[in-house]
Amino acid sequence: MIDESLLADVDGVSVPTGHLIGGAWVGSPTTFESRSPLGWDDMLLANVARGDAVTADAAVAAAVEGFKTWGRYSPAERAEVMHRLADLIEASNEQIAHVECLDMAFLEESMRLRLVARGAINFRLYADLIVEHEDRRWDAKDMDNHVIRMPAGPAVVITPWNAPFMLSTWKLAPALAAGNSVIHKPAEWSPLTAALLAELAIEAGFPPGSYNLVQGIGSEVGAALVADDRVRRITFTGSVPTARLIGKAAAENIVPFTAELGGKNPLIVFADSDIAAAAKKAAWQYDDSGQVCLSGTRLLVEQSIRAEFLERFHAEADALVIGDSRDSATDVAPMAHPVHRDKVDGFVQRARANGDTIVRGGNKMVDSLHYELTLIEPKSNDSEVVQNEIFGPVLTFQTFANEAEAIELANSTQYGLSAIVYTGSRERAGRLGAELRAGLIWVNTFLVRDLTAPFGGCGISGIGREGGDHALDFHADLKTVMILDNTTT
Ligand code: NAD
Repeated sequence: MIDESLLADVDGVSVPTGHLIGGAWVGSPTTFESRSPLGWDDMLLANVARGDAVTADAAVAAAVEGFKTWGRYSPAERAEVMHRLADLIEASNEQIAHVECLDMAFLEESMRLRLVARGAINFRLYADLIVEHEDRRWDAKDMDNHVIRMPAGPAVVITPWNAPFMLSTWKLAPALAAGNSVIHKPAEWSPLTAALLAELAIEAGFPPGSYNLVQGIGSEVGAALVADDRVRRITFTGSVPTARLIGKAAAENIVPFTAELGGKNPLIVFADSDIAAAAKKAAWQYDDSGQVCLSGTRLLVEQSIRAEFLERFHAEADALVIGDSRDSATDVAPMAHPVHRDKVDGFVQRARANGDTIVRGGNKMVDSLHYELTLIEPKSNDSEVVQNEIFGPVLTFQTFANEAEAIELANSTQYGLSAIVYTGSRERAGRLGAELRAGLIWVNTFLVRDLTAPFGGCGISGIGREGGDHALDFHADLKTVMILDNTTT
């Protein structure tokens, strides 16, 4: 039972506003506001508990206790609880989609059809992988050798405000499947669906302390969590500056740390491609107001098709419906937070002052948190808008003369998360797959992938890989046991 004072009514959905620590919901002396980007001044959704160092200490202590139970569950037992959680997510699809739509303005229909469904899939994937996994066993040096994946201990899982529900499940599922207890710290701009998920986790049967949730500000409770030396894994998705801070804390305690960070991903269009399909996909990068780490935000187009591509691109962008995220006709949602919208605008205004050409858009919209769909042709490849992640509906446009120049431009930032290529040549697809510096490369398609494949970035886009066994190995201490074959019983 949750104390009434720790529940908010979010448009008909009851959402816990406290922390989940050791199986019980608790509050904090202070709170922070969760407001809706769909009506910033009028739509206060909840006052959420603002955790501090005391909260972090209690959550880690609970996770240490919870690990003693959960870490000893067999893989089959863990899988059973995780499948139950997946069932509950599916049954709560509409409520989760609606609350996330209100909390950070994600398109409600897209949430229902794609991201909530994917949240359940993430738990099922790792439940199945942990059961299917067979420890490696072999004979060598006259010994029976085998490798055991030993659960590592309490894991801190820190998630960002974009796609908060899906990304939380993507990071929590492998940690829990591996046998680690978790302390989830969601972003302060989108705290609500993490609370719904924690509530479902309790209902699914995670034992007390195995699944903990702490709400609050990153520099406060987040910093306290990652500094705690009882934590044995830290897994983070968010920005580069925060990753630097967390990495320092992890280094201090010699704790393995993965970071999934930003991108400045190229979308490369060759003249031999299906130009109509490429232009459509390019305009589609405005999806979710460009608040997607994997988005192809640097359009690199072969010089010979410049005019045709731009004409098609503008037609596709003009057809996008900018509107309210609750409306299924809407293609482009408002931005998640006024501070972020202003940060995006800052990039555009500096580009203008720098002499970059604003080809379309370039302004805040007056009646909502939307930002105009913007395309910038930079003065040079060194322009800030080419080199830094903007994380809004702002794309850059550059041309190249040949394949070598395309590759050089594509690889010219410090990031390396993803790349999208449009070409009609299989040989070229193979060459670009080999030459581009990015963790994920899509040719003539985008976003679809097998979830057991490695996921992560090169350069400042991240450290480590998620997906399939990669995440399970990260969350385990791999142990090799060697038994000399002279035992008698
Ligand atoms: P952020 O770094 O500001 O915050 C991310 C999380 O870190 C939040 O929960 C925040 O509270 C917490 N945090 C902040 N300071 C902290 C500290 N000192 N110690 C511990 N925790 C702290 O990032 P954001 O703005 O929420 O997210 C957007 C960024 O995330 C973008 O750069 C985007 O590209 C990236 N991202 C990457 C991926 C990926 O898979 N590579 C996916 C989604 C988003």
